[in-house]
This record gives sequence, C-alpha cells and structure tokens, in this order.
Amino acid sequence: MSDRYVRVKIQIEDMKSLGEDAGREAADAEEQAPEGPPAASVFPDAPGVTVAAGDASRVPLTCKQRVKSRSTAGKDVRKHASDVPLHGSVVTARHLNRLGHERALHVRGTGKILRGQLEANGNYVNIHPSKNNQETRREDGFKLARKNRPVTVDMSKAKTSLEALKLSIKQLKWKEFPLGRRAPCDIYWHGVSFHDNEKIVSGQVNKFPGMIEMLRKINLSRAVRTMQELFPEEYDFYPRSWILPEECQQFSTQIRMVKENEPTLNPTFIVKPDSGSQGDGIYLIRDPSDLKLMAGSPAKQAVVQEYIQKPLLIDKLKFDIRLYVLLKSLEPLEIYIAKEGLTRFCTEPYQEPSQKNLSHVFMHLTNYSLNVHSGNFVHSDSQSTGSKRTLSSVLYRLAAKGVDIKKVWSDIIALVIKTAIAMVPELRVHYQADIPPGKPGPTCFQILGFDILLMKNLKPVLLEVNSNPSMRIEHEQEVATGVFEYVPSPVDEEVKVGVIRDTLRLMDPGRRKPSVSHLRAGGPEHSEEVPMEAETRDRSPEDGALPSLCLKQVYPKYTKQFNYLRLVERIAALFIRFLGVKGNMRLGPTAFRTFIRTCKLSNSNFSMASVDILYIDITRRWSGTTGESKEAGMGLQAFVEAFFHLAGRRFKSLPLREQVASLLELCEAQLESQTAVEERRSVSCSRAMPRPAKTHALGPGNRQLGSPAPLRRASSQEYRLHQRLIPRTLRANVEN
Ligand code: ADP
Repeated sequence: MSDRYVRVKIQIEDMKSLGEDAGREAADAEEQAPEGPPAASVFPDAPGVTVAAGDASRVPLTCKQRVKSRSTAGKDVRKHASDVPLHGSVVTARHLNRLGHERALHVRGTGKILRGQLEANGNYVNIHPSKNNQETRREDGFKLARKNRPVTVDMSKAKTSLEALKLSIKQLKWKEFPLGRRAPCDIYWHGVSFHDNEKIVSGQVNKFPGMIEMLRKINLSRAVRTMQELFPEEYDFYPRSWILPEECQQFSTQIRMVKENEPTLNPTFIVKPDSGSQGDGIYLIRDPSDLKLMAGSPAKQAVVQEYIQKPLLIDKLKFDIRLYVLLKSLEPLEIYIAKEGLTRFCTEPYQEPSQKNLSHVFMHLTNYSLNVHSGNFVHSDSQSTGSKRTLSSVLYRLAAKGVDIKKVWSDIIALVIKTAIAMVPELRVHYQADIPPGKPGPTCFQILGFDILLMKNLKPVLLEVNSNPSMRIEHEQEVATGVFEYVPSPVDEEVKVGVIRDTLRLMDPGRRKPSVSHLRAGGPEHSEEVPMEAETRDRSPEDGALPSLCLKQVYPKYTKQFNYLRLVERIAALFIRFLGVKGNMRLGPTAFRTFIRTCKLSNSNFSMASVDILYIDITRRWSGTTGESKEAGMGLQAFVEAFFHLAGRRFKSLPLREQVASLLELCEAQLESQTAVEERRSVSCSRAMPRPAKTHALGPGNRQLGSPAPLRRASSQEYRLHQRLIPRTLRANVEN
C-alpha cells in the first residue's frame, strides 16, 4: 500500500460519519420527502473516473411510472401513475454606564436581571453576546428539560422520517412520543413544515418557518442572484438563471446576443418548474424559442438555468451529491455539515447535450426517482458501485485517481456556507413574523438537503436545496411484477440515522453550548480556501458511548472567511426594525417613509415625494413578479432593491457592494444615535416620574436590530478588511 493510498484512506475515514459498519449499503430516495421508488440488480464495478464520455446513447425519451403499492411502517401509501417527461435581551451601550465594566441590567417588563461586560472598544454592549431571542428560548428549554429525565421527542408529525427518528431516539436513550402528548416535549419532529403543528409554544422544532417558501426554485434563485450582484466571484457556484415568465424576454435577448457574438457557442439550458421536485416537468432546451410557454394559459412559473455541459463522470455516468446540512440556528448563525452523504447516478452513459439526446432523461438527470425506472438502475451490494453510492466511496475513488479531495471538500463547505448566508435574510423575516420576540414560541433547527454537481474541473455547482430531504430508511423493491414494497435499506439507515441522531445530540437541551466568539470581528484576512478539518469538539459528556458526531460545524467556525458576505442580512435587520407590527412581513408606505426619515436619507435632491414614487414604483413591479406574494406592501426582496437604489444614488461612483456597505453603515449609525437619544430621554424621564410601559418609537422590531449589532460590527470590520485585500480603484463620491 503506497503512502498516498494510506493518506487518502485516512482522509476518507475521517470524512465518514459512521465508518464502523462499512460493509452495508443500499439504495434510497434522495428527493424531497413526498418521494418514491425502488430497484435491484447487480452492476459490475467499472473502474475509473472519466470525463466526457463518448459512448453511444440508448434508452428512452420518457418513461412511464407505474402505480405501486408501498407498505411502510404498517401503512400503505399510494402513488399515482404519471408520465415522467425529461423534461429583549440584547442591549446597547446606552443601557449601561459607559464606564462600567460588569454591570447588572434590569430588563424592563421582564423582571429579569442580566449581566454583561462592556467591550473595551465597542459602541455596543452585548449582554451575553450569543444570547438573543432564539438562544434565550433554547435556554428556557434547557431549564425545563434534562433534570434527571430523558429528553422527550414528539414525533406525531414525523411522517416518513419516523423510522429513522425512532432508531435515533433509541440510540440516545431518549423518550419518544409517537402520538404526541399533552404536556410539552423538548423536541418536536415535523415531517414537512414548521406549521405541521401550530400549538407549540416551547421546546424546539426541526423546521424553520418560511423554509419551504425560501427554497422554492424561484426564491432561491432570487436570493443567490442578489448575492451574485454584490459578490459575483464568491457566488459563481450557481448557474446563471432567469425567472419565467417575467424574464423570458430578457433571457431570449441575452442568449441571442451571446450566440451572435460567439456563433460557435451552443449553450444548453435546463427549465425547472418552480414548485417541482424529483425532476418533474424538467426539460432541456437549446434555444429560447423552445420554452414551453403555453399560449392562452397562464405561463408556468419556472427557472431556466444554464445547463452544466461538462459534469465530472464516474464510470461514464453523470452523478450528483446529496449533502445533509444542519441549520442549527439563525441567530447566531450555526451551520453543520454531515461528513457522509449520498451520490445519485444516471443510468445512461453521459454525452454532451445535442439536439438528439436532449430528451434522454436517464443521461441528463440524476434524480433517483427517475433513474430507478430505468432498466439499467443498479442496486448494488457495495457502497462504491451501483446507481447510489456513499459520498465517501466516491471521494475515495477520486482520491485514488489523484484528485485533491481536500480542495473539493473545502469548496463544498464554502458553497454551503455562502448559500446559507444567501438564505438567512428571508428566513429571519419569516422567523420574526411567526415567532415574534417576546411571544412564547419554540426555537427552530432544520436539516437541509443540498444537491451539488461536480464539474469536470471539480468545481462544485449548487443545483438546489431541499427543505425536506427524504429521511426514509427503506427503499422500494419489486416483490412481484408491478408490486413494490418498502424493504430496509442499510445505507440509508447508516447515513440518515447518523444525521438525525447527531442533529438531536446537538439540539439536546442539556448539551453544553460551545462558546460563541464567532461574532467577534477581525479575521486577519480573507482566505478563499476553507481548511479541511480542524476537529471541533464533537463529543460532550452527555454523549456517553455514542460514536463521534458525523456533523461538523462549519459556521461559526469559518466566520472569518465568510462574515463579510452578510450584507443582505443587515439590510434585513433594518427591514425588520421598520416592519412595526408583529407578524408583519411587508413594509407599508408609511413605514418606508419612517425608514427614510430616521436614517436621514432624504434631502433637497431626494424629496419625500421622490421617496413615495420610489416606493410605489418598486412595490408595483414586485407585486407583478413571479412567486411574490400578492399582499400589499414591500417584501424583503423589494426592500433590498430599494436599498440598492438608494445606495447607488448616495455613493455613485463606488462598486455596488461598497455602495451598499456604506449606506448600511450610515443607516446603522443614524439608528444608533437615535437609540442613544431615546435612551437618554427615557433615563431622564424615569428620574422625574414613574416609567410608563414603554412602546419604542420605532416599534417592536427595534429589538431585532439589537441582536445583529455584533454581526453588524463584525461584518463591517471584516468587510473593510476584505476590501483592503481587493484592489480599490474608486473613491467615495458622496452625493450629499
Ligand atoms: P428537482 O427538484 O426536480 O430534482 P433539480 O434542480 O434538482 O430539480 O434538478 C433535477 C436534476 O437535473 C438534478 O438532479 C441534476 O441531475 C439535473 N440538473 C439540474 N440543474 C442542472 C444544471 N444547471 N446543469 C446540469 N444538470 C442539472
């Protein structure tokens, strides 16, 4: 065995989540939860990682899915036949004596006393920096739980995750409540959405409000595109996308221009229906005129995306990666990645798209739910062969071919963190609307399924993020002709039970929290490459004899490298502050005016009348856009557009991201000074008379801005540091 082989083996072993039981494997449905199908046979292990296959294609244009009877957990689930076409506790310094060091603070209205420390250099004091609404709730849960009693889990809504959840809870020796219970549980496991059970007022739920909406194809594309505008190089892992039908014209014009300028270029595009999953309704086109925009009927909401023509191939087959990611908390942002994942293989040798093969579903789409219907689908007894393999077996294979898998893994980590940063602003708006600060409610966490394609040059590309990745640990098998049953799938069990069990371990209300120093600013410099694995603490005393965690923290661990990207989150914090009414997600015209006034953004060149016109103009346009709610008012995305516009007016000659960063600093400074004035007023009033129950001039959203202060400070400083590292050719040209 060569040294290189040994090194590779050690790396792979490091990356495996549940390395002990390596002999087992199987197939599964790695799709959104309403998932599917089966298959079995043996596939000879064709060695070699190749790129760009040249083999002739066979197989069909479409395949017909059969009606199958499935039995799982004693229940029969039926899937209809369908054609598958290819196609209040954070406080600013003003609350404290600026000279004070450790001070006690009475939080009005709560009767609570908090202790905090003034930061030597900062304008803000964060009482328990990591504590915020979410964290405080979690701590309340902690007090509730874990005093000589096992953690309780309500799994009455767990649906297809039930079996994996039961196994996890058994390993943890926790207490399961398959039918729920009257008394509150520590953890609620929902199969689909946060709203599966509306009555939860404490504990932790495994879904974030708004996640399903956020991760619909159009919304995710919008969120990533906003980040691409600000940070084009950092967000180049997402294929160029257009939103249909509204950007149909733009798409046609741009592609026509590209083709005119470079006639040899023959790009291909993939059209994905907004609410589709499992490859449903997806098709490839080579010309905008091939878009299926139905005349007479409402045009379908979809994303059309540049098709990655040169994917990395293994055994001449295209494949993608399903990576499990735990979003442990929004505030502070905490992200974990599972070291073991799955890879799903096509069942027809890959060829670059041509007019002839565009409709070859088994060649171009890696969805398990499609390929399982191919006669070539292989259910192998080995983890490293067949149509579904473990991620570690694929990485091992690549490493054996000399691929720098450490770099691939670090690129994947970066992709995950950047995508999460793009998602968080919208999620925070949903969060405050569903669980307003001060109101009883649970805290949230969520396991997400990232679908990633490796390009021929090994660059990872984000395909989509699933809010509800399948946690089923059975796969379908044809027990008689046309009759399918669910049978246990050892690989699914190994990967998914590990992910669920370790998610629970991390969410254990009794688990000691790691110190949160991550929001401190000032990483020395921005490094593109994320180090592979400096082990984080992955075992706590509560873990007993359990294996080490298969989930690795990547954020806040890599805060230094990525915090400067969190600009839109700061815009979202402003947005939330001015929302005013609890539960609201849209900004009215008066609130928008208040924002402009409070941040002193109007002047002789930009009157309040112009502000109103801007508001009307942007909200009108957004209300006509695809996927946007028809409610009145300005949603976050529209507010972000308005903010970019204002930033452009104010700091004309700067690049967009510097315009936005500068305007943010300006607004935040205005709000800080206003808060200071109000605090002083309130202190002097309180000396003179008994203090009335306070309604803050800026409404309850005010508390929201308190908590991002460390984020603001950190990302501002990191942003500045980052800016120093990139060539700066332009100077600020402040309009007024
Ligand atoms: P769905 O939610 O319907 O599964 P995806 O976005 O995951 O939709 O796309 C389905 C499949 O299509 C992916 O698994 C992948 O194989 C292929 N695919 C999607 N987008 C691209 C792309 N931009 N380039 C190449 N292949 C893609």
